[in-house]
Amino acid sequence: MDWVSFDEIKKTVSLQMAIDHYGIRLRRVGPDTLRGKCPLPTHNSKTSAESFTATLSKGVGGAWACQSQSCIKSRGRVGGNVLDFVAAMENCSVRDAAIKLQMWFLVPAAGGAPRPVGKEPRADISTGKEPEEILVLKTKSEDVGESDSNKPLTFTLQNIDCTHPYVNERGLSDEIARTFGVGVFPGKGSMEGRCVIPIHNANTDLVAYAGRAIDGTEPRYKFPAGFHKSLELFNLHRVKDDLSVVLVEGFFDCMKVTQAGFPCVALMGSTMSKAQENLLAQHFGHVIVMLDGDEAGKVAAQGIADRLRQIIYQVDVVSLADGVEPDQLSRDELQGFLLPLHISAGGVC
Ligand SMILES: [Zn+2]
Repeated sequence: MDWVSFDEIKKTVSLQMAIDHYGIRLRRVGPDTLRGKCPLPTHNSKTSAESFTATLSKGVGGAWACQSQSCIKSRGRVGGNVLDFVAAMENCSVRDAAIKLQMWFLVPAAGGAPRPVGKEPRADISTGKEPEEILVLKTKSEDVGESDSNKPLTFTLQNIDCTHPYVNERGLSDEIARTFGVGVFPGKGSMEGRCVIPIHNANTDLVAYAGRAIDGTEPRYKFPAGFHKSLELFNLHRVKDDLSVVLVEGFFDCMKVTQAGFPCVALMGSTMSKAQENLLAQHFGHVIVMLDGDEAGKVAAQGIADRLRQIIYQVDVVSLADGVEPDQLSRDELQGFLLPLHISAGGVC
């Protein structure tokens, strides 16, 4: 179940961003006022040449209006905010416009966490006020069923900077960063300035971007609302034809292990869902479980290995020292742990 508030969308996506999304050209007539031909499909008047105005400083994220009487009449209103704009452009409900904006600009779910069904909406933590309106995008519990799937994204983020210093600081080579498409996103939206990590399903469809803060900002990771990480194994589409795979917790663990020469997938956390368990059993005959060397990781690794041993031919566990995570290890250290265990399908690893 995923909730998103209209408030959150208006705070994240400005009217300017929506106008740019459609490639609409308007003339600047004031410090924050744009004017031009009305782009709305409801606009039929041939006489009102410059009836559309966008005031970028008005309200939350800007306001717009079209003064043409016929255009107003067919829409039932003079103008509105970014949600009303997209609803008018798409000839859809405000709710559907919110869903579109959420997808285009990766607006996170309200509060970043799911809310139980039937409960009153929580007060907005950042303002102490009730969210203006709350949308239910999907009324499923977090424990998603086996028939559920993540929908492929209908867009890709452009101009991701794979050579950003942050990528190197995390110990990744330029080549690995390019292979995974990982880098800092310079554009607008909720992923702005974050290190973005494309996530694909087993069929190589792009289903989400994870956005890692690079400057200590909370939350450390952002995912688009509606994305269920429990349905995917990160990097599965690149290694699904291998016999043996290393199973780790995080994205950077996975990229470091890949860089050291071993096929690897990540749980995107320290728990293994039923769907992830099935994916492992479906694709691999040998799993090396290498979770973080903290107490939670050690307990989780044992439980995961026990479950996998019921359904997979060979399961090994690498226990790291206290506080050690795979992504902190050098290539030599990783090879020291993994070479003795790795079984390669074609004799080459
Ligand atoms: Zn109009």
